[in-house]
Amino acid sequence: MTTLPALRPGDALLLATTSAGKQRELRALLEGLPLRLVTPAELGLTLVPEETGTTFAENAAIKARAYHRASGLPTLAEDSGIEVDALGGAPGVYSARWEGLPDGAEKNALLLRRLVGVPEQQRSCRYVCHAVLIDRAGVEHHAEGELRGHVAHEARGAGGFGYDPVFYLPDYRCTVAELPPAEKDRISHRGQAVRALRALIERALDAAPQASGRDRLPQ
Ligand code: IMP
Repeated sequence: MTTLPALRPGDALLLATTSAGKQRELRALLEGLPLRLVTPAELGLTLVPEETGTTFAENAAIKARAYHRASGLPTLAEDSGIEVDALGGAPGVYSARWEGLPDGAEKNALLLRRLVGVPEQQRSCRYVCHAVLIDRAGVEHHAEGELRGHVAHEARGAGGFGYDPVFYLPDYRCTVAELPPAEKDRISHRGQAVRALRALIERALDAAPQASGRDRLPQ
């Protein structure tokens, strides 16, 4: 288990994503921490790190390093996606723009079409999230989570984002988009990864009441 250097209430943590869906979930998963959660837009950062890695871990680290370099702040980034067994693990790290399509109904419809005729027992898939926290000293802390399910037969539900309407959870008999947000956070790939990093943050907050607070932003 890695250790973070001292953190004080009021210190800033950059949530290094421009995805509104991810930002919403990250904020909920970090709720209650006495940190100032800031977004790239709030800092005026417009960089678009090139995700040249072939794994979720590599791409998460690329994003975390780029935003940490640009901001000088402790930075939390994640890379995530859906792996569909019947498609040999695709779209995987290319989930965000699979077949050139942004998140939305069109891409989800394409996934359903690709799996037409595939029987239930071969529709398994998983979400993966690899999260990286770079602390003030530039040290990287990694955590990963996964959520297993099946590709649905039709899109259902309006919650979540991305592939959630076509990600079916047999145990719940509904899609991820039909889950209450708090339940998605409780079981999700992102929830697992971010809670592991949150535990490090909580220990750093507990450990060092005498910390400098130099990462605090002006109020
Ligand atoms: P990234 O921004 O390169 O990490 O790509 C993430 C992409 O994976 C998103 O744009 C979605 O297509 C997909 N994805 C990751 N996590 C989720 C989720 O929780 N729900 C739905 N789609 C997700």
